[in-house]
Amino acid sequence: MALQILKNALVFDGHNEELLEGASIAIEGGRIREIKQGDIKLNSANVIDLKGKFLMPGLLDLHFHAYSITFNMHELDHMPAPLKVSHSIKLLEGALQRGFTTVRDLGGGDVGLRLATEAGLINGPRFLYGGKALSQTGGHGDMRPADEEQNCGCAYSGTICQVVDGVDEVRKACRDELRKGAHHIKMFISGGVASPTDPIWMPQFTDEEIQAAVYEANTRRKYVVVHCHTDDGAKRSLRNGVRSIDHATEIHEDTAELLAESDSTFAVPTLAVVKQILDFGPSMGMFPESLEKVKPLYQQMLQSVENMHRAGAKMGMGTDLFGPQYHPLQSHEFEYRSEVQPAIDILRSATSINAEIVQMKGEVGEISEGAFADLIVLDGNPLEDLSIFQRPEQMPLIMKGGELKRNTL
Ligand code: ZN
Ligand code: ZN
Repeated sequence: MALQILKNALVFDGHNEELLEGASIAIEGGRIREIKQGDIKLNSANVIDLKGKFLMPGLLDLHFHAYSITFNMHELDHMPAPLKVSHSIKLLEGALQRGFTTVRDLGGGDVGLRLATEAGLINGPRFLYGGKALSQTGGHGDMRPADEEQNCGCAYSGTICQVVDGVDEVRKACRDELRKGAHHIKMFISGGVASPTDPIWMPQFTDEEIQAAVYEANTRRKYVVVHCHTDDGAKRSLRNGVRSIDHATEIHEDTAELLAESDSTFAVPTLAVVKQILDFGPSMGMFPESLEKVKPLYQQMLQSVENMHRAGAKMGMGTDLFGPQYHPLQSHEFEYRSEVQPAIDILRSATSINAEIVQMKGEVGEISEGAFADLIVLDGNPLEDLSIFQRPEQMPLIMKGGELKRNTL
């Protein structure tokens, strides 16, 4: 790949609030070779003058579902595979065009999508997948309605999740997903919104089952992510070695303190999906029981973000959107968070902190020598206005691994 230079940039490196003015970045072999203030002189380099525009690391979304084509799980499970994949390609390519150069798939995403991305058949973000998420019988990932009787007792395995019960079944499912190259293991440890039979407050899986998953993931130097709406679930996650607590809807002050003290457990709030259901739930054909569940969640989640921010806990960022028409809300997460958190912390969440959570510190989410050249340019300063991410025309350049994915400069 040719040598490239981006010059005259105002750089946010993913960490520091102090921006680097008039900086140049040299890119070689898909990675950042050099950063410095002023010009870099290299023969035969292709130079792009950013004319003082804002340059930052590509964004990471840690709660993404490539197969999130509809909220209707029955419809999703009965969709022919080629149709499902065609939809997922559009969703992934859309995310990259919003500046997300890495997404973590939290249910359904598989090795096929990863390989297709690496082969360039999908022009999407770096794709971190965990296979099918694990749910207990009657848990958030068990999409069977209450009136469904299955005489054979072989439970449920759908597009997004699979049902397993007991330490042995959890262990076997983890080993199998890890065999298929999973970057992480996803479990549901509290009730959820889109499932028909479980209340939000319900604890799911026992500590022993969670420990089995954490043990198996750790044998491969991987980790466990949980879907968790409750404070009790967050405490169980901290106690049992879970790395990523997703949604983190209810985090009390004492739990926020524990998160601040931990360097191996992080929360990943997902305001976008809650807002999506609040605003569009009825027109999406959601179960009335699901709509009832979601009402108090948004304010609760904002309060949790505020509690964690006050305690000094590092937070990641995710969105968890379902349905192609709602995916553009991915760019709104920044603004939602800004109700309770300063812009600099939100930008760190979407870049360097997210990278740390997915064990890619130094590789993505920061502008440093040796990191992948995953970069975006903004025509405006997000530290002053986080709604800028919602306007594609103000993101004139997107680069992933040194390849220009958009350049309107
Ligand atoms: Zn969830
Ligand atoms: Zn999800």
